[in-house]
Amino acid sequence: MDVDEFNGLVSALRGVAGIRLWADAPLAPFTTIATGGKARLLVSVGETVALAKVLAELEAREVEWFCLGAGSNLLVADQGYSGVVIKLDQSFQYVEGLPIERCTHSRSAGGDMGAGPGESSTAPQVILTVGAGAYLARLATVVAEAGLTGMEHACGIPGSVGGAVAMNAGAYGWCMRDVVREVEIVTASECRWLAAEDLEWGYRFCRLPERSVVTAVRIMLRQGDRETCLASQRAYLRQRREKQPRSVRTFGSAFKNPPGQHAGRLVEAAGLKGMRRGGAEISTVHGNFLVNVGDATTADILALMSMMRQAVERTSGVVLEPEVRLVGCRFPWETEQGDE
Ligand SMILES: Cc1cc2nc3c(=O)[nH]c(=O)nc-3n(C[C@H](O)[C@H](O)[C@H](O)COP(=O)(O)OP(=O)(O)OC[C@H]3O[C@@H](n4cnc5c(N)ncnc54)[C@H](O)[C@@H]3O)c2cc1C
Repeated sequence: MDVDEFNGLVSALRGVAGIRLWADAPLAPFTTIATGGKARLLVSVGETVALAKVLAELEAREVEWFCLGAGSNLLVADQGYSGVVIKLDQSFQYVEGLPIERCTHSRSAGGDMGAGPGESSTAPQVILTVGAGAYLARLATVVAEAGLTGMEHACGIPGSVGGAVAMNAGAYGWCMRDVVREVEIVTASECRWLAAEDLEWGYRFCRLPERSVVTAVRIMLRQGDRETCLASQRAYLRQRREKQPRSVRTFGSAFKNPPGQHAGRLVEAAGLKGMRRGGAEISTVHGNFLVNVGDATTADILALMSMMRQAVERTSGVVLEPEVRLVGCRFPWETEQGDE
């Protein structure tokens, strides 16, 4: 985008109600690892109609863009991002309870989730509509407080609901797909609800329609016992505290767990825990967590990821696949050897 194209885009977007614009917006404060440069333009959007208009302007001008959630699984290039970043504002942080459905065995509700802790498979189902900007961990706590069971596992995941759908976030054998029944998406031309079964889901993966933003989801939980739900959450949080670094700047798992294995243990077996590059460190607590221990750059983090990947392949014969999403750059091994 040259200067004239950029100015043309900005003046067109200024005509859209319900949005705010920031040119040259630093992205590090919007990510949990706190590295990386600026976005050419950040657009904060307050409602779906405005979002569709913004997307239409971007598509018409063929401007690259991506949607930023809570930034807890992102690594932004030190050089920044030359496209447009879309951020859903606080208007998308809502939870609406819909009437309780007593249709426990209905396939049309998306199939049986199976009973979890504190729930009975005959307990009434509860459908909630949640804005994509809501924080997943907060949602997990709110529903547990309300005695709704089905997403206690999500209590320590620091993403937004939209980001959790896009990543099919999960923990302890649970993932978003287990509770999501419908996803509302907005594109340049429409806003519509999609059934979860019409999307392709995988391990830390969900194929959303091309160039779409998730704006809301409908999740199905079951009525359970409040104390059991809260106790279950406390147990998951305790496990996290024991196994993961606490109160650090990180994006969680750098690599996906290979089938039947743990990326962290493979990194540990390769002897890399505690290794540093610039201001970045492979956590001494968990081998798959990279930590910004000072003034790390994204280049520092990527150098460590490259080292981890090479060492694990050498020592275990396993090629690790990244979980973290890159913005404005590529993984070093992709530029060295072509796309993999
Ligand atoms: C301490 C820590 C612990 C973690 N533990 C876990 C864990 O146990 N399990 C787990 O799965 N993850 C974990 N994560 C990673 C992260 O929290 C999840 O991947 C989370 O789902 C990312 O959500 P986000 O809103 O932060 O997305 P972002 O990091 O902002 O974005 C991630 C991807 O989602 C896309 N996206 C975001 N919002 C939308 C939207 N509204 N519409 C369309 N696309 C969107 C982005 O474009 C990007 O491609 C952890 C991270 C940290 C820092």
